[in-house]
Amino acid sequence: MNEEKKRLVPKPSNLDLPERFIFKVRRDAPFFKNRSWKFYDVNGDLTGTAKVPDNQIICDDCNLLMISAIIDLIIYMDLEGKAYIEKADCKECIEKYYSSLPVINRIKCRTCSNKIEKFKNKISEKEFLISSMCQDCQDYVFEKGKKEEFEDNFSQHDADRREMDEKFTHLDGD
Ligand SMILES: [Zn+2]
Ligand SMILES: [Zn+2]
Repeated sequence: MNEEKKRLVPKPSNLDLPERFIFKVRRDAPFFKNRSWKFYDVNGDLTGTAKVPDNQIICDDCNLLMISAIIDLIIYMDLEGKAYIEKADCKECIEKYYSSLPVINRIKCRTCSNKIEKFKNKISEKEFLISSMCQDCQDYVFEKGKKEEFEDNFSQHDADRREMDEKFTHLDGD
């Protein structure tokens, strides 16, 4: 049971991409949509397919369900210069196995155009998927008091992480 892997990375406009690299993408990127599992019998013949829910992004090394707004993909370039997705990995596995690979991050804040690296909590990640704003811009835009209240509520819910994760992974609302 292997998820279909070889999906092209959209327009690698960089001319000298490394042979293999980490590419940061939003979890709502088009290539996470309409994926399918393929089932094979013992002879290797295709016996069926099933749709993978768009929000179900699993670490290809440890099988963790990844819920972060930004996902790390390992990309490799073939001899003709075509880019392929080798796998999607969680932060821990990236650190464990791929920390030596170059990182390409083209995710930019819609408001200030700065490169987006990380968020301070899941609420901010969720907000980013809606507004495409970096942490600084989010902090600036939302009234401070309001935001703190929001975070207090969040830490209450954090006690039941599973519940929060569920809300987060169902963000696409499909
Ligand atoms: Zn992992
Ligand atoms: Zn910004």
